[in-house]
Amino acid sequence: MKITEITTTLVNAKMRNWVIVRIFTDQPGLIGIGEGTLEFQERAVAGAVQDLAPLIIGQDPRDTERLWEILYRHPFFKGGVVSMSALSGIDQALWDITAKDLGVPLWRVLGGLARDRVRMYDHLGGGDSNSVYDSDTAQSFAQKMKESIADGFTAVKILAVPKSAPLGGNANLRHAEELMGAARDATGPDIDIMIDFHGRTSAAMAIQYAKVFEPFNPLFLEEVVQPDQHEAMIRARKGINIPLAAGERLLTRADFLRVLQDGLIDVAQPDVCHAGGITGVRKIASLCDTFGVTMAPHNPLGPIATMVNIHLALSMPNFLIQEVMRADVPWREEVFSGVPDFEAGYILPPQSVGIGAEMNEFEAIKHPYAGEKAVQWFHEDGSVADW
Ligand SMILES: [Mg+2]
Repeated sequence: MKITEITTTLVNAKMRNWVIVRIFTDQPGLIGIGEGTLEFQERAVAGAVQDLAPLIIGQDPRDTERLWEILYRHPFFKGGVVSMSALSGIDQALWDITAKDLGVPLWRVLGGLARDRVRMYDHLGGGDSNSVYDSDTAQSFAQKMKESIADGFTAVKILAVPKSAPLGGNANLRHAEELMGAARDATGPDIDIMIDFHGRTSAAMAIQYAKVFEPFNPLFLEEVVQPDQHEAMIRARKGINIPLAAGERLLTRADFLRVLQDGLIDVAQPDVCHAGGITGVRKIASLCDTFGVTMAPHNPLGPIATMVNIHLALSMPNFLIQEVMRADVPWREEVFSGVPDFEAGYILPPQSVGIGAEMNEFEAIKHPYAGEKAVQWFHEDGSVADW
């Protein structure tokens, strides 16, 4: 079997364009699909896929390890989020072909079932305003919580931390406390709540927020500082008594090794669209397992990434919980077939071959690429803020 062509399709899905990679083979009808979505740099990823494609055209797509090594090492400059996202989309499509060729679901070729079902959590967003008080009133947070629970979820993630100056003062802390209190009141004591800081905070401010959140018993706090501020992460870790998660902006085993060796995380969150696809995330998961760190892969992107994550979660021994994005566009199921429903907050093993989702090209072209500008936040004095 040989790879004959690699294509990319950009599908605009509000806030981001999904980067869908398809790999064609010399076997009639045998086509692999993958996703390498990278917000605000989708055309760069599509270009990188085309730059990488000649390295593996003509090769057997089922040699996933060898082709991963070629795509990672032969361009000489390794890594970088654009290249790694391109590699990720290609890698997923290679695994899809491998499973389809054998006529089995993807999880079967990843070692079979390590669990019977996958616990999912709902990402409710929030805190997206450039002003602390413009949106996400406590009532709207509470309402979102109730809707997720009504849909069967037992765990939700919220962005309860507003834009924060390096030392944000008491108004920020009171606002976060109000949001978290409303969320906890709406869910009751037994629903798991995760809080994504989005790296909006300094180490000092993260510690202060954590003290506010601690009485509400969140499951974990995510990205309490920016991922490139390793020393700040060490300081934050020392002052926080809640489990910490990070990793959606880490790309390689080496990136994860550094935070693991310094004992900075309890939960690792690689993104299968950035961290080297299925091959890359499996290597990272195995590394995390040796440190007793559990996995909650990052997944706010498209339907193909969600499906790949479900297969990984089913086969990954040290898996904890899976993020899912439901609130982006209402036409997901028209463009992508095969994405199952989430029953009572869990999902059962997909039984169709390969990844189990396919793109309807005629529906996809109804949502062509459209430029999406990155969010831009500034502090009150005009200086640049992280969002
Ligand atoms: Mg996050």
